[in-house]
Amino acid sequence: MAAGLLGRLGHDVVLVERHPNLYNLPRAGHVDHEVVRALQLLDCTDTFLADAIACETYTMRNGKGEVLAEFPWASEGISGYPSDFMMYQPTMEDPLHSRLCDDPHVTLRRGFEITDVVPGDDFVEVYAVQPASEADEYGPARDAESIVVHGRYVIAADGGRSQTREQLGIERYDLGYSEEWLNADCRRKRPVQLELDTGQWCDPERPTTVLPLGRRHRRFEWRLLPGETAEEMSDPAVAWELLGRLGLTSEDLSIVRQHVWNFEAKIAVTWSSGRVFLAGDAAHTMPPFQGQGMCSGIRDVTNLAWKLDLVLRGVSSPALLETYQSEREPNLLAWTHLSIETGKVTSVLDADEAALRDEAFHSGNAPAMPVIPPLTGMVRTQPGAGELGLQALVRRGSVTGLFDDVIGCGFTVVSTIADPALYLSPAQLKFLADIDTRVVHVGGDVVDVEGKYAAWLDSHEWEVVVTRPDFHVFGGGSLAELPEIIDELAGHLQV
Ligand SMILES: Cc1cc2nc3c(=O)[nH]c(=O)nc-3n(C[C@H](O)[C@H](O)[C@H](O)COP(=O)(O)OP(=O)(O)OC[C@H]3O[C@@H](n4cnc5c(N)ncnc54)[C@H](O)[C@@H]3O)c2cc1C
Repeated sequence: MAAGLLGRLGHDVVLVERHPNLYNLPRAGHVDHEVVRALQLLDCTDTFLADAIACETYTMRNGKGEVLAEFPWASEGISGYPSDFMMYQPTMEDPLHSRLCDDPHVTLRRGFEITDVVPGDDFVEVYAVQPASEADEYGPARDAESIVVHGRYVIAADGGRSQTREQLGIERYDLGYSEEWLNADCRRKRPVQLELDTGQWCDPERPTTVLPLGRRHRRFEWRLLPGETAEEMSDPAVAWELLGRLGLTSEDLSIVRQHVWNFEAKIAVTWSSGRVFLAGDAAHTMPPFQGQGMCSGIRDVTNLAWKLDLVLRGVSSPALLETYQSEREPNLLAWTHLSIETGKVTSVLDADEAALRDEAFHSGNAPAMPVIPPLTGMVRTQPGAGELGLQALVRRGSVTGLFDDVIGCGFTVVSTIADPALYLSPAQLKFLADIDTRVVHVGGDVVDVEGKYAAWLDSHEWEVVVTRPDFHVFGGGSLAELPEIIDELAGHLQV
């Protein structure tokens, strides 16, 4: 995603990956509307949306089948999509990979293992080696090769065991969560109606997760009980026995991957060192009970990409990049705590403790769950700022579609009352052009097809709204206040 977002903005990117080919199996199963909007920027949603399922509800039931909690996943996301999807990850990664292959700004160096990242004052040197190999399914025989890439900046998205993080001496703090779960990802052979389609059996005898992974696959997860080992639980007979308890047999499904994962929550103390930025699991890991690990990594790079763009283009000073961690970490921590708390509800193994939990849920006394806060930092201090901005259907001329497709994306200044440009000075319009802003009168030559922009701005009592390339609202107000809002934005960016 980072390579795609920066390549799209015209920056040369070298992507180094040790595996010669795509993993081609899922890890993430859930994505939310914000992430789908980011995929839309890279034209990667068609294959994904054709197979993904927009979920109705995510339900937590106890061992007796009683509902403990329901998460409303059927709501309409503000980003132009249903709020939550269950998907089969290769349907997202294949088009993303094709996009990178086609992008003249992105050079893919697959099969190269990074051995060293050497920070310098003006550049970072990245050393990588490709071992010699015989001809195989990935291509012809290859000689051993070494490369050195000089990057003005490096994004280390090299996973939870990030070698770059270790090499830079960046420690992680541990939020104290560690559980082993057996995962079986399955391909459907025929339609099956399950008692619980999407959610969790919070059964102390065997906490179990049941999820669709798009239309053709399903995921099942079972917490390991005390005394069970990863080795014995990796036996296919174990997965089939557990699937059998859900009424499923090899006539219903085939198992495409069975694996025991250790879920943990560890966060890097600092997310950057000089010109090197950690992103994704390299910066943070969380248990998957909210399906937000990969989503958070994608949020990292949607935040970072536009800031790098402005710095690389000389619009903003490198100090802008210091806001990466401070803006992302509160959101990440909230999702991590929510994931941990959801996991605690799910994972109870003691029957008495489970009974107390059930009683708390039934009597409405369940502990309050952490809330995801709006973004703070480079946004105005006002209600609505830092929340996600709206994407809805618009029409310009004969073209109807989602805003980012029809108008474009980046910074936007949108009013449903008048052309915002009429309220700005030439200097302010030049600044907006320099940072690649769409200044739009929705209701003028751009039609608000479903009236959603008017309703959204009205709900905030705004005449105009300014949003950032990562879809967050910078601020809003009356058209008379717009010059002040733009000056404030300039103050933030021209640091
Ligand atoms: C069972 C399970 C379920 C999950 N469900 C969800 C979900 O529903 N939704 C969600 O959002 N998240 C989910 N997650 C979390 C999600 O899978 C991770 O957060 C995500 O994969 C992290 O992506 P990443 O790119 O940061 O790291 P990785 O996916 O670990 O990628 C790192 C890459 O770096 C490469 N690399 C590492 N070191 C080097 C090196 N030295 N040289 C070259 N290449 C290197 C690796 O080969 C790898 O390709 C789940 C995780 C698990 C385990």
